Formats: sequence, structure tokens, C-alpha cells
Amino acid sequence: MSRKVVWIGCAVIALSIVLYLAGFAPESREEPEDYGGFRSGITYAMNTVIEQKWYGESADTVYTGMETKIREIESALSLHLSQSEIAAINENAGVQPVEVSQRTFDLLQRAKELSEQSDGAFDITIAPVVELWGITSDHPHVPTDEELAQAMALMGLEDLVLDEEACTAYLTRPGMAIDLGGIAKGWTADQLREYARELGAERGYVSLGGNLMIIGERPDGDPFKFGLRDPQGDASTYLGTVTLEDGCTMATTGGYERYFEQDGQTYWHIMDPFTGHPADSGLISVTIVGDEGVVCDGLSTALFVMGLEKAADLWAQSGDFEAVFVTASGEVYITEGLRDRFALTEQYADTPVSVIKR
Ligand code: ADP
Ligand code: MG
Repeated sequence: MSRKVVWIGCAVIALSIVLYLAGFAPESREEPEDYGGFRSGITYAMNTVIEQKWYGESADTVYTGMETKIREIESALSLHLSQSEIAAINENAGVQPVEVSQRTFDLLQRAKELSEQSDGAFDITIAPVVELWGITSDHPHVPTDEELAQAMALMGLEDLVLDEEACTAYLTRPGMAIDLGGIAKGWTADQLREYARELGAERGYVSLGGNLMIIGERPDGDPFKFGLRDPQGDASTYLGTVTLEDGCTMATTGGYERYFEQDGQTYWHIMDPFTGHPADSGLISVTIVGDEGVVCDGLSTALFVMGLEKAADLWAQSGDFEAVFVTASGEVYITEGLRDRFALTEQYADTPVSVIKR
């Protein structure tokens, strides 16, 4: 690696972590007696498990408000809900521009920016390739070279025309389609944070699949701490923890999330837009911590595709996120800003952690 990497023995903390269905696990602790109660629960939406916990008097209001908001965003963005704005854009590919809400328009613009920032590693026009492999569907298959060439010919962000004045989106060629799966949950986390604050939320979090949004700190005044899954272990094995301040978001992309196996090969759902195949960069999990969910989610996918070296370069040039990388050989790399916020769990105490510096 070109970048200066320092080996450190990371502080190990003994934590008991609650088994959690998807994404992250909150640190488990006794709640203090006098914080005014809480509301927590798990629901299913946006194709994923959503966990929330809110403390204090506004807990009920915030909890139900979040559920309503999630359904509202889901119906605008889903690829699968036929009335969604995204479905309308896809149906009208090569036909006509489609007027969308300002919110959806902003998201499409952010997606384009992320694509530029990652030199095309993140590309929402990847839908025909995702569809062809069907990795998250009931009938995944390894495509032929010919099938793949046809699907890849339907990609191209320059052919997604966004007209700011008319607030329209237009895919200029028939057969093109967009897929916001790599960014929608992080974007939703941002909308939820804004709405939660409007509803008077003081402390709590929402975890949507591999995306987390935090408000305030724990009722005992300590910051929230979440466990990161070992990508090679089972769903209840946590490699380390990350401490998150008020307003933080965190997103993880892991090859273990959704995949299928054929002839001894594992094919996961993160695609390399340049090969049309599942990303094969040597990374098996990427976690991004930052202020904006949309950036964290998009970059976790992008950096997974880019691989450690390019990802470290991108981090060094930007100032708005930190990252944890796990390689296929089980090595852990963290960016400098997480030095005091990342800690290995007791079980992984012997794992070497390298700090990536600017
Ligand atoms: P998850 O959905 O498991 O939380 P991600 O946030 O990383 O994981 O998003 C993965 C989804 O993003 C895929 O299911 C697919 O819809 C889409 N996708 C896959 N590869 C890319 C890519 N290179 N650029 C943009 N979107 C992608
Ligand atoms: Mg993502």
C-alpha cells in the first residue's frame, strides 16, 4: 500500500452484545432508572429489518412517526412497488421524461455525484446487470458473456438526464433502468433524522439493514456504541465496536448480506460496474461513518467495489467520512479518525488493526 499504515494494538473492551437480526448490534447495558422510559421494536420494510429505540417522553411519538415516514419513502423509491417514482422513470426509459418529487430529484442528483466521486464504482444505472444476475431474487443465475454484454450496454449515467427546472428524470434509451438499492436506506436515514428532530426526539437510533442513524447519547450520558459484524462469522459474531456521536450515521456493505453459491463459487450482490460481475476487490466488508446517511450508504458500496488502495486514496482526498475495511484474509484497516472510536471485541483481541493515515 502506498499510504502510511501504522499497526496498533487496539484497546479491547469486554462487551456483551445483543443478538440482532441484521446490520448492527447495540451495546447491551442496564438502563438507568430515571430516564423516563423508552420505546423500542423491530419492523420489516424496504426489504430489510428495521430496529428502533427511543428514550424519553417523545419516544412513542417518534417511534410511530418513523414507521410512517419509512413507508412513505419506500413507496416513492422502491424498484418493486409499481406506483413508485423510480418504477415510472424505468417504465418510461427511451419514451419520455418523468416528473418526480423534489425529494426524489435531489436523491438522483446525489447518486450522480457519488458516482463521479467514486470514478464510476457506484452507478445506479446498474439495474439491468443486477436484474440479470438476480442475486437477491428467487432465481439467481450466472449469466453468459453475451447476456452480460447486452445488459452492460444498457448502463450509463450520462444517459440519465436530470432537468432541474422541470424536476424530471429521463433514461434516454429503452431497456435502461435505475436501482437505488445501494443508497436508498442511507438516504432514508437522513430523512428520518430530520423528521425525528421535528418530533422532538432527544436520544435514540434507527437501524435499517446495514444503516444506522443516531440522535443524542445514551440515557446515562455515554455515547452510543454499536457492534460491527465479523463478515466471516455468523450473524451474532461481532468483530469490534464503533462509538458514535450525536447526529452520526454509519453504513456497512458486506458480501455476506445477500449472495448465492454455485459450483463452489460465492456470488454476492455488490456488482462491479466495469466487469458486470460481483465485486472482487479483496474487501469483504466496508463500514462508513459520517454525518450524512446517503454518503455513508453510497460510499460503503462504492469503496467495496474499489478495493482497499483506491478506497484509502478516496478517503485521503475527502474530509467527510471515516471507514473500517475488512479484507478477505481477515485483516482490519481503520481510517485515522476512528482511532479512538473503534475497538475490537474480546473475542477478536488478537486481530491486528492497521490505521490508514493521510
Ligand atoms: P444492502 O442492500 O445489502 O444494504 P448496499 O447498501 O451495499 O447493501 O447495496 C447493495 C445494492 O445496491 C444491491 O442490491 C444493488 O441493488 C445495488 N448495487 C450493487 N452494486 C452497485 C453498484 N456498483 N453501484 C450502485 N448500486 C449497486
Ligand atoms: Mg450501500
